[in-house]
Amino acid sequence: LDKTVESALAKCAVTKDNQRVYVHLNAGLSADTSIAVNRGVDGVGLYRTEVPFLLQRSFPSEEEQTAQYRSILALYPNKPVVMRTLDIGGDKPLPYLSIEEDNPFLGWRGIRFTLDHPEIFLIQVRAMLKASIGLDNMDILLPMISGVAELDESIILIERAFEEVSKHAQQQGKVLHRPRLGIMIEVPSILYQLPALKGKVDFISVGSNDLTQYLLAVDRNNARVANVYDALHPAVLHALKHILTSSQQLGIPVSVCGELAGDPVGALLLVGMGYRSLSMNTRNVAKIKYILRQITSDEMSALTQQVMMSSLATDVRATTTRFVEDKG
Ligand code: PEP
Ligand code: MG
Repeated sequence: LDKTVESALAKCAVTKDNQRVYVHLNAGLSADTSIAVNRGVDGVGLYRTEVPFLLQRSFPSEEEQTAQYRSILALYPNKPVVMRTLDIGGDKPLPYLSIEEDNPFLGWRGIRFTLDHPEIFLIQVRAMLKASIGLDNMDILLPMISGVAELDESIILIERAFEEVSKHAQQQGKVLHRPRLGIMIEVPSILYQLPALKGKVDFISVGSNDLTQYLLAVDRNNARVANVYDALHPAVLHALKHILTSSQQLGIPVSVCGELAGDPVGALLLVGMGYRSLSMNTRNVAKIKYILRQITSDEMSALTQQVMMSSLATDVRATTTRFVEDKG
């Protein structure tokens, strides 16, 4: 490892004025991260469980899933690992399960699919819970929640799995601890229902990739409209600010796990808004930790207030990029 990268990784993430920012990892495969990065993060902010499912020839069994999840949880002892339940459909169809739809991103995706297949959901949650026994570092995250009914239904199933696995643990003389539960904030409807989450979730995690896609009504993977897809669109920034303010008022911990959090311009604006927890891909960890150290939180918040008055994403990007370059 390069010396600068090594030293950036070794220190915890703080702004120039010593405001702590929690930096977490987005993970899908255990093999894709180095030991230095693993040590340099505060935990896993998003483990995409669909990734191992996509690499299989058929649905992995409960035992196979338990082993898989345990190997991930064991890599980060005493650090939180957020495991997201299956987010298939959309751009991630399983090779052994064909879903034919005109609009996959608006269709049978994420929690919509698993709630229609409670047997798949229950197997997965039981596997997660079994994997967490004795390690006690797992949080559960639900993707694509568009309203409270989906959350309530999920909670009932998770409770059922919890009781089943609790008995299984007791038989072995062990204790199963209740995981913290969170939802992805990525379907715009939920932005107007945040107060209804109070008492039901322990945390929320903003999926800026899908939030951008659904807020701007633009397919995140379609090259023809790639110029329209921009997480720095002022409407997206205002949505992000609204989520932060509401979560602070409600006392619900919040983090951002979309690509924006691992982009220097995005990370700076998120911290400027007041976010203190970011989750990103391996390759961005050292860079983001390094950049945060060069700038004070006041400078970031002044910059954010300024760019949020722009009505054009191009202006937001240009101003913020110039600011980052000036800071070296
Ligand atoms: C997101 O939507 O921002 C996100 C983190 O989840 P995914 O990219 O897996 O949809
Ligand atoms: Mg998403």
